[in-house]
Amino acid sequence: MIVCKFGGTSVGDAAAIRRLAAIVSGRQEERPVVVVSALAKVTDALLALEQAPTGAGFISRLKAIIDRHEQVARELGIPDAAITRIREDARSLEHWGTARDHARWSAADRDNVASLGELWSSRLVAATLAAADLRTSWVDARHLIATDGQHGQATPDQPEIRRRASRVVAPLVEAGMVPVTQGFIGATPDGHTTTLGRGGSDYTASLLGAALDAGRVEIWTDVDGLLSADPRIVPNAILLPEATYQEAAELAAFGAKVLHPATQLPLIDAGIPCWVLNSFAPDRPGTRIVPGAKPSHNGCSPVRSIAWKKGITVINVQAARSLGAPGFLWQLFTVFARHSVAVDVLASSEVNVSVTIDETGRLAQLVEDLESLGQVTVFERRAIVAVIGIDLRGTRGLSARLFGAVKDVNIEVISQGASEINVTFVVKEEDGPKAVQALHREFFDAG
Ligand code: ADP
Ligand code: ASP
Ligand code: MG
Repeated sequence: MIVCKFGGTSVGDAAAIRRLAAIVSGRQEERPVVVVSALAKVTDALLALEQAPTGAGFISRLKAIIDRHEQVARELGIPDAAITRIREDARSLEHWGTARDHARWSAADRDNVASLGELWSSRLVAATLAAADLRTSWVDARHLIATDGQHGQATPDQPEIRRRASRVVAPLVEAGMVPVTQGFIGATPDGHTTTLGRGGSDYTASLLGAALDAGRVEIWTDVDGLLSADPRIVPNAILLPEATYQEAAELAAFGAKVLHPATQLPLIDAGIPCWVLNSFAPDRPGTRIVPGAKPSHNGCSPVRSIAWKKGITVINVQAARSLGAPGFLWQLFTVFARHSVAVDVLASSEVNVSVTIDETGRLAQLVEDLESLGQVTVFERRAIVAVIGIDLRGTRGLSARLFGAVKDVNIEVISQGASEINVTFVVKEEDGPKAVQALHREFFDAG
């Protein structure tokens, strides 16, 4: 059994869904389970309805989303009956466009609305596979992906997912069916729809892969695999034919959107390989992510890839007393924990601690609490640039090359990750792409 996940651009229009059908057909012998994202940009469009003007403005935006699904359905020759359900779901949203209900979305409402993208795309995909003579079964992921109630960023309950997958999905596969389900969405034990965080369909695929003891998980996307940098910023980024779980996880954690940061977690214990493949060029080799692979060095350079992530806030705390004083860092982190804000990068000196966090709506309260520990300064609209490689700490002369490469960029915080495989910088958001390009030139361009 294998799990094949198709991202937004890989189901973005009728041609993409036809390519998906060809890929899945070619894998029938391997007993595929299909996981799909919403059509490209549909999740954004659904969530943007919250800001739409009330009345006609809201209805016309909703209609544009539905029209797109109808258009794709028509091009695929899907019988009208299959999209009746999509239209019904859309009608159930219309009340959000009235002045009375507008701007009153709770996190749970947002999940309900966002989930429709995957529910709709999966119906189009299931109908297309059925029309291609595959015995297909549409499965509601909310009956599979059990989560807690943290809307927008729910935590999956892996033992429960395993029980449900063997009860619901495995029998379908045994019976020769191709289950088609939604990425990104799940439900609480009492049936409320949740989501796993933006980009979460990759995570769904690996959760199901682990739950089903799959032979591998395939992440089909719009690039050739894991690359040495985001190709939108570095057009000549090179393919990593192989990567370790840890490298993939670091790349994702530092902003490489190609994988959701949690994707590797469920796969590690079982050692299930994960492939990243290009649905626009399915014959290309892709990247194989495996446990303990010995990734080939990039020539003689230890650097394997460069990632960056914007929307970062740096918080500097100048301690009133020594950082070394017992309990200081504990107190500091207790404040972050109390506000449920995760810290990404930490750098400290004798009297100063700098931490980075993702942009948060809770900044003011957080800073107020931190002020009890020392003088707090905040820098917003920053980016983290991460250099990911092998044994970076043990590589002599590396720092000189790193700093030489970014000498024209103002570096604000530097931190060598605990993992030995990354070094991170903080720069102003607008300097992020320039820093990534300079580092890529230094470590990947010949000469
Ligand atoms: P999908 O819709 O298939 O889930 P995403 O848009 O979430 O696709 O992720 C794929 C995108 O990730 C690529 O188009 C690419 O621009 C971006 N990306 C960023 N960093 C990397 C990287 N190191 N390797 C590959 N892709 C990357
Ligand atoms: N459709 C969701 C999103 O845009 C999940 C995903 O694509 O992985 O965030
Ligand atoms: Mg994605």
